[in-house]
Amino acid sequence: MRIAMISYHTSPLAQPGVGDGGGMNVYVRQLATALARLGIHCDVYTRADSKDDVGSVRVEPGFEVHFIESGPKRDLPKERLLQYVRHFTDGVLRHIFTERNGHVDLVHANYWLSGIAGHTIKHELNVPLFTSFHTLEKAKKIGRESPDDGYDSTVRIWHEQRVMGCSDAILASCGPEAEWITRLYNVDPFQIRVVPLGVDRAFFAPGDQKMARSAIGLPRDDKIVLSVGRVQPLKGFLLGAKAVERVLEEMDVHFVLVGGPSGPEGEDELARLRAMSRRGTLKGRMHFFAPQPHEILSSFYRASDVVLVPSRTESFGLVALEASATAKPIVASAVGGLTTLVKDGRSGHLVRDRSVEGFAAKISGVLAHSDRGEAMGRNAYHHTRGFTWSNSAKYLLEILEDRQSNELVLCG
Ligand code: UDP
Repeated sequence: MRIAMISYHTSPLAQPGVGDGGGMNVYVRQLATALARLGIHCDVYTRADSKDDVGSVRVEPGFEVHFIESGPKRDLPKERLLQYVRHFTDGVLRHIFTERNGHVDLVHANYWLSGIAGHTIKHELNVPLFTSFHTLEKAKKIGRESPDDGYDSTVRIWHEQRVMGCSDAILASCGPEAEWITRLYNVDPFQIRVVPLGVDRAFFAPGDQKMARSAIGLPRDDKIVLSVGRVQPLKGFLLGAKAVERVLEEMDVHFVLVGGPSGPEGEDELARLRAMSRRGTLKGRMHFFAPQPHEILSSFYRASDVVLVPSRTESFGLVALEASATAKPIVASAVGGLTTLVKDGRSGHLVRDRSVEGFAAKISGVLAHSDRGEAMGRNAYHHTRGFTWSNSAKYLLEILEDRQSNELVLCG
């Protein structure tokens, strides 16, 4: 069996935690790896966005990444990518016809831009299309403090709706994402299937806190609050820093942030955070780290006492899952997938109003009672034990098997 995975705007080989690299890159790479290990051949197609992106890379047996030339070979803002989708799609089809004899069993598109390509490929090859959206434009709007940032999203919503209409299965990462798709896009629930994400337990596992701290040069004995991810307003790190500032009024604590700027507002957001770290009680207490690969990132989780996820919206929230896998308590916003990953009061806390006071109170609560924090970490670990990439791959294959006897969903 052969799956063509489309990851148009960002490569599964890119470093997550900066620019366009985030949970989706991790998802595509890990899912393709897990499928390949089950004997399914995965061809991942991505846009060549640097001069080094040439031809194909064999990541491991059964998993190859193919760079498709479409538009300038450099990073482009997302709003400029729509114009090159057609060119990219032609390149993918050319590869499938010349290198794969026109044979694939499934197209799996990731994100709306890839969905546009996947939709065309589905009709050209007459194969089912599964779509994972990762983020949904209408869901992003729910969490926006200023509802209209001057960003015209009608085009994206139009495409999302159209791709959903012709997807043979829409893969949601959790119940809340499935609910958004049904409610916000008016999609029949039968078209949606939940495929939970996984975590690489070879890296993300409980371990010695002090050893982790000395390995990465963090204070040995002080309390540490950790946030991880792409720095942009959607992630709420500014709110997180304000909450830690409030906690500092009661106890000594360090705030560690791992990740780099992402999106049009990323650089400004990072500058705001750096400015905060230079004044008041946060001075000397806030530490910035560049994006880290998973094998090193796991030490950051181990080094922490609590992981803070103050996002405005989160379709799933891999960071919360990685924190759980390393047995750390989590303080998170009560949004999207975070509401399923964090068991409120048991494996961490969910903050419903996303207020500085709300986050500060929960962080202090966990830090002030280290036994309770450790017990929550253990609960987090047990609660999420079933989340593995191999399970994700198996769910996807089950859905494909279910679908095989059915007619393809057709447009309109
Ligand atoms: N990540 C990473 N290195 C970093 C920061 C983040 O590898 O320095 C990874 C992180 O481990 C997680 C992903 O980026 O797997 C972020 O996924 P999440 O679902 O939390 O957020 P998204 O980027 O999808 O909004």
